[in-house]
Amino acid sequence: MPYFTSSYIDGTWRDGDGRTFAVIDPADGTTIADFAIASEADCAAAVAAAAAAGPGWAATPPRERSEILRSVFEILRSEREVLAETIVRENGKAFSDALAEADYATEFFRWFAEEAVRIPGDYRLSPNGDKRIIVTRQPIGVSLLITPWNFPAAMATRKLGPALAAGCTTILKPARETPLTATYVVDALERAGVPKGVVNLVVPAPTGPAVAAMLHDPAVTKLSFTGSTEVGRLLLREAADTIVSASMELGGNAPFIVLADADLEEAVEGAVVAKMRNGGSACTAANRFYVHSSRYEEFSERLAEAMAEFEPRPGLEPGSRLGALVSMGERDKITDLVGTAVSEGAHVALGGEPQGPGAFFTPTVLTQVQHGTTITRTEIFGPVATLIAFDDVDTAVAMANDTEYGLIAYVYGSERDAMRVAHRIDAGMVAVNRGVLSDPAAPFGGMKASGLGREGATEGILEFLEEKYIGLAP
Ligand code: NAD
Repeated sequence: MPYFTSSYIDGTWRDGDGRTFAVIDPADGTTIADFAIASEADCAAAVAAAAAAGPGWAATPPRERSEILRSVFEILRSEREVLAETIVRENGKAFSDALAEADYATEFFRWFAEEAVRIPGDYRLSPNGDKRIIVTRQPIGVSLLITPWNFPAAMATRKLGPALAAGCTTILKPARETPLTATYVVDALERAGVPKGVVNLVVPAPTGPAVAAMLHDPAVTKLSFTGSTEVGRLLLREAADTIVSASMELGGNAPFIVLADADLEEAVEGAVVAKMRNGGSACTAANRFYVHSSRYEEFSERLAEAMAEFEPRPGLEPGSRLGALVSMGERDKITDLVGTAVSEGAHVALGGEPQGPGAFFTPTVLTQVQHGTTITRTEIFGPVATLIAFDDVDTAVAMANDTEYGLIAYVYGSERDAMRVAHRIDAGMVAVNRGVLSDPAAPFGGMKASGLGREGATEGILEFLEEKYIGLAP
């Protein structure tokens, strides 16, 4: 199918200065498209277009913004299979995962269509009665949205939805691995009636200097980033120069705790979802399984049995449940990580190997893993489960919290005990007796080095609004 393969600036697809990069299908290494690299001038033009369109978009009645968002929701809902296929081609994930992503991504437009008309404000008398306090919220302005490759549709719509609902204009900078999904979403926004300049898209190379230049442009007042903690740190430093407001959705290292009184069948079912959704390439993926020693053996056997059902196959092959990783580089990273785990004492209960010729990795269960070894400190981002035994809950909680990350945790056990543990976990999200948590209506985000701010829910739109206090005579 034909893809849009260039920058989108001020309502026009632009080819740049002739340089391109290849978008690769990781299942077989073939080139899907040559994508135009955005030049320095293109990036500057994108910022200028967003700045010029800003006042008009901010002044558009909320109902009008809402209806455009509702319309893009309808468009993408009716094209979910095409969107999903685009995701599979460049990202590699299984079609079923891509369809789930397409639906999740599309829901952010419906949700924020509904939020656009409910932007809150406040009006009250000061305590000593000398003034009336009016608090209004206005769009924060030109927003630079930077997204990763693992959920190329959802990470873009989770930012575009609230930004547009709030009245902000945008520049989307998708990951180089997955620009085609982003251009698909941008084209749908154009078809839904988003005015020129309100949404722009660039993929510059090299990325760092181009993003830094955009962040240093005084027109840019918001950075919303999803990606690794390492790049997030760099960008926070850049944003400091011009005091750009920054929302950060960063890496994770999710613990999955199985208490002594957990329903094991449910726990294994939840573990499979928390581990294998998106082939394990999710910031929410369960990385470290802490299992009570009385249930450890049975849990590991049953988990290995369930994960063995996931045979790596190209994502578009009928019945595929585990597609390719995004690149051979990712595959090699996971291969090295598993090798290191084994050299540090882990036992391979299932899989443990790359599978060629594409970027595939077999579903893997590592047992006898020691807390504190390299693999328990690293975001795996692939279909590899590491199992660690514990004897008392305090130790499990301490191990779960012993990480710089704090995005999400999973707990299985009786509701009473699991809730007690949930309250003690340092993470922005805790799933109790559930293997998946993401919902456009719930605040998504992390504590510690997993991020700043929240996406989705009623909180998500606040990231793109600035509060203004106006004082009036009583
Ligand atoms: P990444 O940090 O390498 O890249 C993310 C984005 O930043 C891409 O668009 C990339 O081109 C850009 N980028 C890279 N270097 C840059 C630089 N120097 N300056 C400016 N931009 C730069 O992350 P990734 O490998 O694409 O994605 C995987 C990571 O994303 C994982 O750590 C994962 O946990 C995280 N993630 C987090 C969430 C969340 O909501 N918390 C969601 C999805 C993914």
